[in-house]
Amino acid sequence: MLNQYLQTDEFKNHLNCSVSVFVQIFSSDRDPSWMMEIEAALRGTMPEGVIVGVTTMGEIAEGRLLINTTVISLAFFEKTRIQGFLIKGDNGNERNQGYDFSQKIEMTCPKIAGIMLLATPFTMNVADFLNGFSAGRSGNYPVFGGGAGDYEVEQRPLIVLNGNDTPKGVLAVVFIGSDIQIDLHTYLGWQPLSKEMMITETDGLWVKKIDNEPAFEVFHRYLDIQNDRDFFLNVLEFPLLHKRNGIQYAKVPMEVNEENAIKFITNLEVGEMVCIGYGNPSVMIEKANDIQNRIQTFNPEAIFLYSCICRRFLLQSEVDLETSPFETIAPTSGFYTFGEIYSQGKYVMLLNATMVAVSMKERDGKKLAEGTEKRIEKLKSLDPFASQHTRIISRLVNFIRVVTEELEDANMEARRLAERDFLTQAYNRMKAHEFIENEMKRCDRYGFEFSIIMLDMDYFKKVNDTYGHNLGDEILIQLVRLMSLEIRTIDMLSRWGGEEFLIIMPMTDSDGAKITAERIRSVVEQTRFKRGLSQTCSFGVTAYKKGESIETLIDRGDKALYEAKIRGRNCVITK
Ligand code: GH3
Ligand code: MG
Ligand code: MG
Repeated sequence: MLNQYLQTDEFKNHLNCSVSVFVQIFSSDRDPSWMMEIEAALRGTMPEGVIVGVTTMGEIAEGRLLINTTVISLAFFEKTRIQGFLIKGDNGNERNQGYDFSQKIEMTCPKIAGIMLLATPFTMNVADFLNGFSAGRSGNYPVFGGGAGDYEVEQRPLIVLNGNDTPKGVLAVVFIGSDIQIDLHTYLGWQPLSKEMMITETDGLWVKKIDNEPAFEVFHRYLDIQNDRDFFLNVLEFPLLHKRNGIQYAKVPMEVNEENAIKFITNLEVGEMVCIGYGNPSVMIEKANDIQNRIQTFNPEAIFLYSCICRRFLLQSEVDLETSPFETIAPTSGFYTFGEIYSQGKYVMLLNATMVAVSMKERDGKKLAEGTEKRIEKLKSLDPFASQHTRIISRLVNFIRVVTEELEDANMEARRLAERDFLTQAYNRMKAHEFIENEMKRCDRYGFEFSIIMLDMDYFKKVNDTYGHNLGDEILIQLVRLMSLEIRTIDMLSRWGGEEFLIIMPMTDSDGAKITAERIRSVVEQTRFKRGLSQTCSFGVTAYKKGESIETLIDRGDKALYEAKIRGRNCVITK
């Protein structure tokens, strides 16, 4: 069939009018000889063509998903030159390789308008490679592409450039000249399901612990996923979501080891907050429509889609609802990927669970043929939720998200109530105890210092006796507000008892604490409290001595405070 097409006038006309041809072979077949056969057939008619091949997890032709096929996409350029580069991956050295690769490309090619990359994230650290690639390049031209996939569980993908294949590497196709315009879009459509958890231990791409337990436990507990050879297929639709610089990213687990650590396609860092996410079909379709409208305005001649395999898994038979409207704008081909490559400014990144849509034109796309407008309207008016399956998913995702948020809010409120003093909202004595114990451990281990300030209002009984208990309460609230403004965010203010307060100051010696105590003393003295009342406080300051007990520390603070009272009040004593 291919050979027949290569004999047609249509093909020959295109070929005669073009300075370069870009061929992409999207194939379910990972046998290199199959790609070579196609390559040979094409090479005969277009010796100068740039021909790339990639194994996929689903092929896209005319905006539709095909399974277990080979799609050949031909793009003829009238003015734009293209050039291909291939590098075999060297594990452990990916960052340097990426750097050298972009340097080499920029040195070889003048006037780069954009670069398509195909890579093999299953067999090398493509995220590191792209970090190096970003650092090595000087332009801001768009970079896009996808990770090769594989229908088999063993995941041994393949990429091919002009007859050279590799199961581990990156290939680039560079678009050269000022006549081509390339427009990039990406969107996600995955939403948080679980509560937020913290990454607590990592090793390269491996996440060892989440919330201090083996990472796999999270997937086992919430999703009942087993640590077996089907792990990847089962976990695929449940990436971890996290935010960096306000942007939401998804990360699909790749594999799990005997220690129950999980490997991801790109790295997560200790301290980052993550939650388990799930795709919401209604959000996906909505976002797709939005992007399609923008691409329509750009009016491209061709569209390439790099869509994550997990979208295919999630939407199942409805997956074309997302992709086929692209075909009504311009011829659309692409594949289901393992990792999508996308650039923002100078930075090129490996995304997960997203759709990357790339539109190209050397001139405005053809005016749409008669009837196409109608076809677009019809496609857009299709009910994406005609199928019960996607409608139910949307509802359930929403339900779980709302329930999780409600529980989180309730938890936070419960925690607040348990930690705070009801009247003043300062921390309570129990929380202060816990805080001091932690601080003591930190100081014993790392040799830090910390200090405490104990303070008590002077002649407060008189306020109550003269003006009543209610006004006394209001003054206590006012005092807490005043003090909160005078301490740092790392300091902790607690109500130790009646009108006695304790301030704990991490990383502070007694001289530093004394300065703060003096400042508070002076502010209190100068403040006109409710009904114009004046009030003063006495202060005892002391620093923690390594190895001592909490009782000894507090006792010394008490003594200092007692001495301040004896010395006439409204003063600070350090012990
Ligand atoms: P000084 O500390 O300077 O020796 O004199 P004082 O009058 O403040 O004496 P003391 O600290 O022994 O008395 C504390 C008083 O604080 C007793 C009580 O009436 C008042 N108090 C304690 N807790 C509260 C409270 O929650 N609300 C009000 N309004 N008053 C309180
Ligand atoms: Mg008092
Ligand atoms: Mg008191």
